[in-house]
Amino acid sequence: MQAIRDFRYLTHNRNKLSAEQVQALQFKELQQLLEFVKENSPFYRDDARYQPIKTWDDFYHLPTMNKSIMMENFSTLNTCGLQKDETMAYALEKEKNKDYLGYYKGEYVIGLSSGTSGNKGLFITPKSMTKRLPGVFLARGGVMISDLPARILFCLRVFSQGFQDINAPLLKLTYASTMTPVETLISMMNAKKINILMAPPSMLRVLLPHAHRIKYPLKKIITYAEVLSPADRAQFSSVFHTKIIEIYQASEGQIGSPCKNGKMHINEDLVFVEIYDEHNHLIQEPHVVGHHMLVTNLINRAQPLIRYEMNDMIVLDEPCSCGSSFRTIEKIIGRRDDNLWFFDEKKQPHIVYADLFARWIITESDLIREFQVIQTEISQLTIRVDLLGPYDVNCLKERLLRELHELHAEATITIEETPLDLPRDANKFKRFISHVKINP
Ligand SMILES: [Zn+2]
Repeated sequence: MQAIRDFRYLTHNRNKLSAEQVQALQFKELQQLLEFVKENSPFYRDDARYQPIKTWDDFYHLPTMNKSIMMENFSTLNTCGLQKDETMAYALEKEKNKDYLGYYKGEYVIGLSSGTSGNKGLFITPKSMTKRLPGVFLARGGVMISDLPARILFCLRVFSQGFQDINAPLLKLTYASTMTPVETLISMMNAKKINILMAPPSMLRVLLPHAHRIKYPLKKIITYAEVLSPADRAQFSSVFHTKIIEIYQASEGQIGSPCKNGKMHINEDLVFVEIYDEHNHLIQEPHVVGHHMLVTNLINRAQPLIRYEMNDMIVLDEPCSCGSSFRTIEKIIGRRDDNLWFFDEKKQPHIVYADLFARWIITESDLIREFQVIQTEISQLTIRVDLLGPYDVNCLKERLLRELHELHAEATITIEETPLDLPRDANKFKRFISHVKINP
């Protein structure tokens, strides 16, 4: 019953609230959140800069935080009394044993975000929240009532207890690790008559050459966890013969999900998102590249994150014809760290967004199944490509140099042909690896 109540509440919010009502709802949630943390989180209580808010201006003057601040203060920030070292040891042990089931202390799902060893993030989801996942999933997971009965294959890098709790009469979920061999995946899909596939784009690219062996027609494919480029979307749609839907989910919150038109909306009732340009001006209009993004989770009281800095760059879009007042996202450009840097003729560093660079590669040839760009220095790139058949990589090199030249960017590019497999651990496949540190 809780699932149905959640589903109704979330559906009502998205479809019926006016822009003013959305803002009022958010402000009320933010006010309550501030009151809650002042009472329940030692970290927020002891920092005088955090005070209950009376106006939007009060809110915009609160400090921002990021993963290192959150992790340094993990033990005092969370409101469940969890200690950092103990919780980290638990999470690392689980990861080592590839055993992601069960609740920590019988109460919490502990998520470990990938990162270099010193830079891992711990995320707490209490049992009471995981129990509400089915309703949230149905309302915001990209599966529509019209898709029921849904037989979903859900490919996860890390399967956690939080997801096992999702199972409703008309909604069957089968889980597979992204490490599952392709042969097994195809057999599972055919045996279980899977009609909805949920997988990160890197996994769909592994399935691409085998698409013709999938026997039952897919109603849709839902991607998440990695950027879905327009070129990927078009290729997946034509090869898998179905529509491609994207949800925007992070350890920090469920940020965006598609409406019935397939347009991605910010989940304004689950997260409060602030987007800033490179000069730190708040962006409210569509089509402007966001360089900084702050997220306040409106529902997770176990580990309250207020004005938390995400590494993602996104662009807002025009209001959607579905009628929802929730803001829309035109595209997720990618992580700020993924951008590439090149010198121009005047030896000035010049940014090229990862999504644009990816488009050049993907649209160059259908034979490029996967790629990885490694930037060692400004203007120096090594690109690894995994090919589906015979292809002259010099064509790709020429294309890239030509595109860069048009942007007055100079580059030295080395291309290597090599198999690119998904990571054997809980980390995401990374298409861009940069050793250049410049903050735009
Ligand atoms: Zn819409």
